[in-house]
Amino acid sequence: MADILIYCEHHEGAFRKASLETVRKGADIAGELGGAAVAVVIGAGVAGLAAKTGEYGAAKAIAVESDTLKDFTVSGHGQAMAEVAKKIQPAAIFMPATSQGRDLSAALGALLEAGCAGDCTEVSVQDGKLTVKRPVYAGKTYVTVQFNSAPAIVSLRPNVFPTGEPEAGKTAQVENMDVAVTPRETVKEVVATGGGKKELTEADAVVSGGRGMKNPENYKILEELAGLLDAAVGASRAAVDAGWRPHSDQVGQTGKTVSPKLYIACGISGAIQHLAGMRTSKCIVAINKDKEAPIFQLADYGIVGDLFEVVPSLTEELKKVL
Ligand SMILES: Cc1cc2nc3c(=O)[nH]c(=O)nc-3n(C[C@H](O)[C@H](O)[C@H](O)COP(=O)(O)OP(=O)(O)OC[C@H]3O[C@@H](n4cnc5c(N)ncnc54)[C@H](O)[C@@H]3O)c2cc1C
Repeated sequence: MADILIYCEHHEGAFRKASLETVRKGADIAGELGGAAVAVVIGAGVAGLAAKTGEYGAAKAIAVESDTLKDFTVSGHGQAMAEVAKKIQPAAIFMPATSQGRDLSAALGALLEAGCAGDCTEVSVQDGKLTVKRPVYAGKTYVTVQFNSAPAIVSLRPNVFPTGEPEAGKTAQVENMDVAVTPRETVKEVVATGGGKKELTEADAVVSGGRGMKNPENYKILEELAGLLDAAVGASRAAVDAGWRPHSDQVGQTGKTVSPKLYIACGISGAIQHLAGMRTSKCIVAINKDKEAPIFQLADYGIVGDLFEVVPSLTEELKKVL
């Protein structure tokens, strides 16, 4: 009853970084509650992968292996997680607040009639109770939540919790579990977009451009800077709505939530809906020609200037030192 189940999202035979962050945090919290971290890996041929969660603190891993569950579907993986939860009776179920994790947490909440807290930025045990902090009102306010029933369903914002160093060679004890599921949808085709681009939500650095970029061709100056910093390139909704960047690049309330070590906002005014997607970045640099732009209120470093001069200069200087 004090165990923490952790749903581990994976892609092409490897865990998403956010899954490993969630395993590590789950292991810490399970330790405080006097239980164990139990990773759950769902898919076809995943037992070997499941064992690796031990490197991040999972004592045990449950492999739910099934061709039916090869691709993520909300009902399929939701039912599978619910069945595992009924057998294990955990105190809580953690998952990364990725697109899949957000869908899954809501479905699980409904299936288990459980309390949910999404996109948490702090997770702790206070007075013996699981306690989480999560943003509301587009990140303007944070609420602290405790749960009145078990299991508590908690999704963790990617890039907020450290993975820590993997304990090489340490494996979780793997149990294969059969569950009866009747998914209500089937994935017929997966078409990759993004052409191998760095995933925004997992990047340690993000360089974003807004309406101030003026046209799609100008993003090449951001791409060059991003290349030097091993960063992903993001965009404001204004840039996406203009058709300059794909929606998968959008940061904000109706786009992706990022929390990198470094976020560089270029020609972005700092509307509340944009801030909702990046305000937990550890270091925010804003480049804007308007010194009154709201982004400067949040920025750690602000450069008032024309981005078409500032960004190339920054790139040239970085080339000298990187
Ligand atoms: C329900 C809802 C959901 C939304 N969701 C999102 C979301 O997910 N993400 C999001 O981003 N927005 C979202 N928005 C839109 C949001 O309100 C803003 O309209 C949008 O973020 C503005 O984008 P921007 O900062 O690029 O453009 P603008 O607000 O037009 O700002 C452009 C900035 O570029 C600067 N600039 C111009 N030229 C230069 C130059 N040469 N050098 C330097 N600076 C320059 C200007 O000074 C200005 O500050 C949402 C809105 C609503 C109503």
